[in-house]
Amino acid sequence: MRREINDQGKLLIGGIPASVIAETYGTPVYVYDVARIRQNARAFVQTFKKHNIPAQVAYASKAFSSIAMLEVANQEGLSLDVVSEGELHTAIRAGFPVEKIHMHGNNKSLAELQMAVEYNIGCVVVDNFYEIALLTDVLAEKEKSMDVLLRVTPGIEAHTHDYILTGQEDSKFGFDLSSGQAEKAFQLLNANDQVTVKGLHCHIGSQIFETSGFTLATQKLFETMKDWRERFNYNADVLNLGGGFGIQYTEEDDPLELDQYAIALIDEVKLQSEKLNYPMPEIWIEPGRAIVGDAGVTLYTMGSIKEIPGVRTYASVDGGMTDNIRPALYQAKYDAVLADKMHQPAEKEYAIAGKCCESGDMLLWDVKLPNVEPHDLMAVFSTGAYGYAMANNYNRFGKAAVVFVENGEHQLVVRREDFEEITRLDLSYTKQEENNYETSND
Ligand SMILES: *Cc1c(COP(=O)(O)O)cnc(C)c1O
Repeated sequence: MRREINDQGKLLIGGIPASVIAETYGTPVYVYDVARIRQNARAFVQTFKKHNIPAQVAYASKAFSSIAMLEVANQEGLSLDVVSEGELHTAIRAGFPVEKIHMHGNNKSLAELQMAVEYNIGCVVVDNFYEIALLTDVLAEKEKSMDVLLRVTPGIEAHTHDYILTGQEDSKFGFDLSSGQAEKAFQLLNANDQVTVKGLHCHIGSQIFETSGFTLATQKLFETMKDWRERFNYNADVLNLGGGFGIQYTEEDDPLELDQYAIALIDEVKLQSEKLNYPMPEIWIEPGRAIVGDAGVTLYTMGSIKEIPGVRTYASVDGGMTDNIRPALYQAKYDAVLADKMHQPAEKEYAIAGKCCESGDMLLWDVKLPNVEPHDLMAVFSTGAYGYAMANNYNRFGKAAVVFVENGEHQLVVRREDFEEITRLDLSYTKQEENNYETSND
């Protein structure tokens, strides 16, 4: 795996010793190598450019949304997926071009749709019939129009290393193709002159290492597009194939280079267009993890070490499931090192625990490290996606800070939340006169 180390055996992140970041900002701290974010974004954007394919690479901002991150995404020519008022607000605050923002969600609220319409965002990815009714009302009331994509479930299932078509899919997202729901939704939307159906969308999963699932989905969506062209004289301008491109967390993960995913999509879309004599649609994709995942490292300070003879040795960090809930939530695996002992052999096996009052609060179950001592600095790799984004205040710990590193410089981009800020939303029950809060919102 990619590791930068200096002569003193210290881990470098974007050229800067991890220990300098830890000393400057404290721990736990998320550190992003911004050059890596840009490199990941360019792998997709440049591949479409090089092949002369009109495309939008929409960063799925749920993976890591912050003003600084969205500024970088915008600099790199990415579009943006948002799924809430909070994510849309962050995009607006970051000055993200509204026409490149797409809204997702399987239960969009009236307020979310109103906000999307008021800001004239680029498109809404319509997910269900309830949303069609809400959106229809919002557009009528505001006398506005909206481009939409229709989210469909193509019925694709992962089978170890292969993907197969199942005919139908058991998912909370999107319209089912095989039962005719997608067609009904299309007809409703297409009949509304305040709505333009730009095309179809599907998202088949996450942390996918092969291209077969994407090419199968492409074939499936083209079948529908061909059918709708013949029966409704409808041509899709856009084919959005979602995100889910896999990244390396540990040595066991063997993802493709990012441009290879784009090339596979381009090849299949071209093939299907030619075969069906269908005008080449724009290809849109929505990588989240693949843009930020391997650009992020979390730094922790080691504390208590508990050796249970014959069982295992627990070494605890000053963070845990509050800054990275993925191991507890879905047994996600990570790789870690002691950042100032990179020249020492990793000879002892440790279980790395968080500091929350919860046995499930573990970061790594078995990692080989040099001898761990209190105050050692630990770096956990590939924490850039769904780390800060899923951070929480369990045990009333404040959220960790986020630092960007680029061109040999480091900069704080999200402040650490301190314990004073933890009570900022709390109101007194017994001293209501001290509460500075309007109870009515109209
Ligand atoms: C989560 C999600 C993505 C991004 O997934 P990654 O695995 O982070 O690439 C893209 N599109 C949709 C619709 C999603 O729900």
